[in-house]
Amino acid sequence: MLGPFLLYCSTPFHRFQYFSFKSIHMRVPTILFAFVFAAQSFCLAAFAQQDPIVAAIIKEASENSQLKRMSHELMDGVGPRLVGSTKMVQASDWAIAQYQQYGISAKRENYGTWRGWDRGITHVDMISPWTKSLEATQLAFSPSTKKAVKGETIILADVADSIAFQQWLPNVKGKFVLIAMPQPTGRPDYNWKEFATKASMDKMVQERKELTEAWRKRISKTGYNNRTLAAALEKAGAAGIVGSNWSQGFGVNKIFDAYTKKIPTIDVMLEDYGLLYRLTESGAAPTISVLAKSKELGEVPTFNTIGEIKGTSKANEYVMLSAHFDSWDGGTGATDNGTGTMVMMEAMRILKKIYPNPKRTILVGHWGSEEQGLNGSRAFVEDHPEIVNNLQALFNQDNGTGRIVNLGGSGYAKSKDYLGRWLSAVPGTYKDSIKTSFPGMPGGGGSDHASFVAAGAPAFSLGALNWSYFNYTWHTNRDTYDKIVFDDLRNNAIVTAILVYMACEDPERSSTEKANKAAWPTPVKAKRKGN
Ligand SMILES: [Zn+2]
Repeated sequence: MLGPFLLYCSTPFHRFQYFSFKSIHMRVPTILFAFVFAAQSFCLAAFAQQDPIVAAIIKEASENSQLKRMSHELMDGVGPRLVGSTKMVQASDWAIAQYQQYGISAKRENYGTWRGWDRGITHVDMISPWTKSLEATQLAFSPSTKKAVKGETIILADVADSIAFQQWLPNVKGKFVLIAMPQPTGRPDYNWKEFATKASMDKMVQERKELTEAWRKRISKTGYNNRTLAAALEKAGAAGIVGSNWSQGFGVNKIFDAYTKKIPTIDVMLEDYGLLYRLTESGAAPTISVLAKSKELGEVPTFNTIGEIKGTSKANEYVMLSAHFDSWDGGTGATDNGTGTMVMMEAMRILKKIYPNPKRTILVGHWGSEEQGLNGSRAFVEDHPEIVNNLQALFNQDNGTGRIVNLGGSGYAKSKDYLGRWLSAVPGTYKDSIKTSFPGMPGGGGSDHASFVAAGAPAFSLGALNWSYFNYTWHTNRDTYDKIVFDDLRNNAIVTAILVYMACEDPERSSTEKANKAAWPTPVKAKRKGN
């Protein structure tokens, strides 16, 4: 971060940007090396003093943080935010009320409809050969049961081909069909690496590979795929579908949506699924009781929630904060994307308080239905060319609770100039771990900034430190409040607020000249009616 910082700081030290860290270290005496760092510290301190807005942003974020209260209210008070659910509406109402309290205008913008569905109680028990309440969750959009349904379990048969499968199908009548592969171990690989002998670990990995391949074949030999198999089992009279989508960590499963139309689809945690599977395989014929009380709501509006701090001298140019608001609902969507949401809401609050009259208009987009394909942000891009064409910058966050460690130029040729300029205003403490890559890659999907990049607008991802995101929280039943790292969120709110402030003040418009025109992603249409 040495280069961009010194570039910005108006002192004679700016020439040091031309030295690489390594060349200084190797060729210049220690005293000069120390001098460079002293100069940098001087610069940092001088800058913090020079810019009272940056200092005030940091002070407000540090001394009056609303992150814990807001996270509790959203994640614990409202809960998960599945598209089409009542909770998504409640969450939007809550955010709008928060913004009103902060003096920020905010509103819901409908862009289509979705199948409405509200999660209810899932209660699954093994009642034979012995009694155990199982850790299980009805999948999103799964049909419900009126009362507890009891039935034996049966393992998806390993048949020769689709004809044999049709002959076997009547066996599922009245039964719960176990359709997931039994995992050979419930221990994550890092645990094996720490304790197993090499031979034993290799053996486990090999066994798992073979099992995975065999299971893939087992499904394919039925003549169906994962999606259509559930429907075939349903048609054959199964009582329900039982899967287990292990997330390769202790006690974590991923919870997505169901493919059945009448019978419940449930996910059973690895430990309990393994128990059912082994008992079924050994002939103990376990019976389970499944109560799944979700509610269908018909076709409901789907929407984005948008907040605004009106600009002054350049009110028709825009700087946007961005984070999807929806989540899967196995947990409470705390890190996907509660944390991105919290960072943007906190940054908006701070900006309104410290920098209430921005040159450019500041907008925040809390997108709907990102999880089903960036639908909210794609719809916004389609519906608001006046904003997209006059966008100075958009900052999106959507990969967990960690400190921002990656900032790329999204493939824009001149992104280094302006992002470097804005980043240079962020004191070292908050950005030292940020790796920049310019011009970077446009990126085809992944999260909502991609919807804007595809339209050629300057949108950037604030990439977070991992914190075991992919195994432990992303789309899992453990994505909950306790996984939030508030110090990192505070850090990110500071970085975001300063970047937005700098982007608003910059006398120059950000260039959207593309570094690599050939590889540019094309816009994808928003899905505006979902089921
Ligand atoms: Zn996400």
